[in-house]
Amino acid sequence: MSCSPSLAPIEVLDSLAGKTLGELQALVADMGEPVFRAQQLHHWIYVKNARTFDEMTNLAKSFREKLAQHFTIGHLELAEKQISSDGTRKYLFRLSDGQLIESVLMHFKDRDGYSICISSQVGCAVDCSFCATGKLGFKRNLTVPEIVDQYLYVQADLGKEVRNIVFMGQGEPLLNYDNLLAAIRLLNQSAEVGMRHITISTSGIIPRISQLAQEKLQLVLAVSLHAPDNDTRNQFMPINKKWPVEQLIQSLQDYIRLCGRRITIEYILLAGINDSREHAHRLGQLTQSLKCNINLIPYNPIGQDYDFKRPSLETIEAFKSRLSRYGKKVTLRMERGTDIDAACGQLANQASLNR
Ligand code: SAH
Ligand code: SF4
Repeated sequence: MSCSPSLAPIEVLDSLAGKTLGELQALVADMGEPVFRAQQLHHWIYVKNARTFDEMTNLAKSFREKLAQHFTIGHLELAEKQISSDGTRKYLFRLSDGQLIESVLMHFKDRDGYSICISSQVGCAVDCSFCATGKLGFKRNLTVPEIVDQYLYVQADLGKEVRNIVFMGQGEPLLNYDNLLAAIRLLNQSAEVGMRHITISTSGIIPRISQLAQEKLQLVLAVSLHAPDNDTRNQFMPINKKWPVEQLIQSLQDYIRLCGRRITIEYILLAGINDSREHAHRLGQLTQSLKCNINLIPYNPIGQDYDFKRPSLETIEAFKSRLSRYGKKVTLRMERGTDIDAACGQLANQASLNR
């Protein structure tokens, strides 16, 4: 039996970011304050994006001091921020148990302002062979405050409104379904981010896609298909053994029928593996009856040791033009922040403090 003295647990203050208006009302009532204070708190946290209680000038100083003793606004602690030559910002956050996650802020001149790429888990269990996050393995799900506060923190740091949220950071969002949905509802109803400006990217967790279809949300569902057939997909997405291509396509048909929303098909381009003329034609045929846009993502390198390469620009363009003949809108995802490893699939908590 160990005789080492037990360490006193470090008290983690409860986060107000992540609470609904109803939860704030209960909390304020417990503190003996009138219930309208909850509305004010809610407004400061989600709309005015306050990061300190001192900013909340219409609340009595004594109430602000009491709040600060028991609560924080969010839990995230910035471990490192990197800014790419293209303006993309990568934030490395330390969570209260010491785990690290990343969020990425991108600016697209041709689109609707800023987008933030949010993590939903620490690491990921899905283990796609081309992805740096997959190499970390699965550590844990993020809580609702940890998800919501990525948005609030980054927006406050930027000092401008961020209108778009993509769940394309670390983790498989649909494997943290309940927290994901609670966070999305808060981001939409409290932080006032339009549902149509929220995208969930999934590797294809069929039972959760069916569950999401029942919610009938106006958000964008993006699906990492990455191959038009099982033989190709099995090579780099082990999850395909459990939920193969034809079942995935059927679940997407059902999703579209129930929600009436166009989905996005994501297709990573891996040289010599899924980028041939036949792959382009088969993908075109497979998706012909799906109401979807197709987003091609040229592979972003995640290290020397892996077998994948990005196809040449000619191959990428040829793939795109062949696929476009099937009548879908096909876009090429421009890489962002590759010089700071902030592009798709490169999020592996490899900030300079870990090197
Ligand atoms: N887990 C979810 C969302 C996070 S990954 C999913 O897999 O969909 C976001 C997107 O980046 C996915 O389409 C994923 O397949 C892609 N991706 C992963 N690693 C990549 C890499 N090295 N280069 C380019 N895209 C990558
Ligand atoms: Fe997980 Fe997505 Fe990376 Fe696959 S691509 S390992 S699902 S984060």
